[in-house]
Amino acid sequence: MGEEILVVEDDDNIRRLLRISLKTEGYRVCEAKSGTVALSLFEANNPTLVLLDLGLPDCDGMDVLAHVRSEGLTPVIVVTARTQDDQKVAALDAGADDYVVKPFSMDELFARIRVALRHRVRAQRDEAEMAAYCVDGLEIDCETRTVRLDGKPIHLTPYEYGILVVMVQNQGKALTHRFIQHAVWSYATSDDYKTLRVLVASLRRKLGDKPAQPRFIATEVGVGYRFVGE
Ligand code: CA
Repeated sequence: MGEEILVVEDDDNIRRLLRISLKTEGYRVCEAKSGTVALSLFEANNPTLVLLDLGLPDCDGMDVLAHVRSEGLTPVIVVTARTQDDQKVAALDAGADDYVVKPFSMDELFARIRVALRHRVRAQRDEAEMAAYCVDGLEIDCETRTVRLDGKPIHLTPYEYGILVVMVQNQGKALTHRFIQHAVWSYATSDDYKTLRVLVASLRRKLGDKPAQPRFIATEVGVGYRFVGE
């Protein structure tokens, strides 16, 4: 039996397409076309992951997200309309694991689902052993706070190091500016992301990373960053 995905989507055509595609990938699927049905299915089936359209007929998808988060760490990927950056950021800050923008490709969606499911496993494991990370030639030793790239040590300031660790711990996930700031500084300074941008630019320079073709840190326009190393 594969992992079960709860698809919350009021558009019949999109929901059918999602059901067929996800089943082809080996997932089990349960479907809701309203927030009310979504919540009762979530309680009844305890799905592995929730795919959540934010524009629902009977309630705001954000309410469904809030309920799922209040119950635990079940991954939630939100589906938003193009140009709604505010909505993406709000959903990520409210605990969504990731987002896709309509129209999205199934390959993109499957990749996001795999990352979200992998993180669920990793989040449980990391509590026991979070001493070191090794990603695509980048090694981070959390005990000595040292970083090596392709075998060579690189020197980071404490803030740069903090940003890098937060990103690596959330590899593959879209992270909002606010999330990163909160994790590194323990608070988020209103909407002033200038300091973060400056530090990320410096971090990229030290990692030899090009924003246009990122090996590690990709910019998520209007949202924040995504650590892409594999
Ligand atoms: Ca909708």
